[in-house]
Amino acid sequence: MQYDLLLRHAHLHRRADLVDIAVKDGMFAAVAPDLAQATAVRELDVEGCLVVPPFIDAHVHLDAVLTVGQPRYNTTGTLLEGIQIWSERKPSLTHEDVKQRALEAIRWEVAQGTLYIRSHVDVCDPNLTALRALLEVREEVRDICELQLVAFPQDGILSFPNGRELMRTAMELGCDLVGGIPHYEWTRDMGVEDVHYAFALAQEFQRDIDCHCDETDDPHSRFTEVMAADTLTYGWQGRVTASHCTAMHSYDNAYAFKLLRLLARAQVNVVANPFDNVVLQGRFDTYPKRRGIARVKELLAAGVNVALGHDSIMDPWFPLGRGDMLAAAQLALFLCHMSGYEEMSEVLDLITSNAAKVLRVQDRYGIDEGKPADFLVLDAPSAFEALRLIPARLHVFKDGREVATTLPAKSIVRRAAALDGQVVHFRR
Ligand SMILES: [Zn+2]
Repeated sequence: MQYDLLLRHAHLHRRADLVDIAVKDGMFAAVAPDLAQATAVRELDVEGCLVVPPFIDAHVHLDAVLTVGQPRYNTTGTLLEGIQIWSERKPSLTHEDVKQRALEAIRWEVAQGTLYIRSHVDVCDPNLTALRALLEVREEVRDICELQLVAFPQDGILSFPNGRELMRTAMELGCDLVGGIPHYEWTRDMGVEDVHYAFALAQEFQRDIDCHCDETDDPHSRFTEVMAADTLTYGWQGRVTASHCTAMHSYDNAYAFKLLRLLARAQVNVVANPFDNVVLQGRFDTYPKRRGIARVKELLAAGVNVALGHDSIMDPWFPLGRGDMLAAAQLALFLCHMSGYEEMSEVLDLITSNAAKVLRVQDRYGIDEGKPADFLVLDAPSAFEALRLIPARLHVFKDGREVATTLPAKSIVRRAAALDGQVVHFRR
């Protein structure tokens, strides 16, 4: 058998021995400890490097990326000032402006191995400028990156003029998912109605749901339970994601225990966003300051599927970032106390297999014979080392074609005999 591509000596996540991976016609054709007899057009010896399916960014805002400082920088650093600055920037959005920034951010993400992105798009705009631009982007990048778009009501469904109609129009234009923002509506009752509306719209259009939910430190913000209850009512199990859920950090343990069980029962996914969560939450605290991130470790233990998003890349809420999901995973490891040896393996799942469940792409995701040959080669041998080093993504493949390459950086220390002038590998 002549393959198109043979990867030699690859480490797979949670597998001790090395394997060879064969690709034919854009699909994984064989994954085995030794394909010594096989030949291929291209052979790549990865020398024990970790090979994983593509990273997934389960939550980002591509309409806002790379706008930091426009029209002004966030001086308090808070979520609310961020929303204010965004509302000042929104009137100047143009089709080309949104497209160029989104394409640039996608380029950053793909270069670092993220080939699936779920982006929320602010639809609180009578012209839906950002949405129309991102619908085009979704098609233009299809060869290298699968983009899912969520109709996201940044200023509320009930608290914004024509909020309901804008959500409906967004779905008619071709959004993949229905969003919501219950904790931001003016009243508790309106928040509950926000969730109900999202579910009714999702059923009408037969779409999945991903709401920003309880993104606050307020322990009385309890809309995630409404999402779980509606999921059971509508029979939408596995199709619903609650994003952020930072209030969960501040719930008393008795309530959190009840909620975790309910989320598991309803098979609601939770997406945490370590960069934005830790920067934006805890802002009303003096000391001690809360970390303000969902209870990732406890959710996983309760059987809830959890994934991560980058959320912001240089926007009014989070000025930094370079679209690296591995860096987001490392931060989650710190914030959620997941530094136990086995827990570190689970952290890699948050940006790979767990996230594939959130995006519901499991049928075509993973390094298995018969699936599309989408994968990346990390310049590290294991999840442990990947999370420690945040290494270069040496090769990124989609459908068996190389879509990005990175050369690892090289450091050399000189002028001290004891330190010998060789390349530093950061290895023990
Ligand atoms: Zn968000």
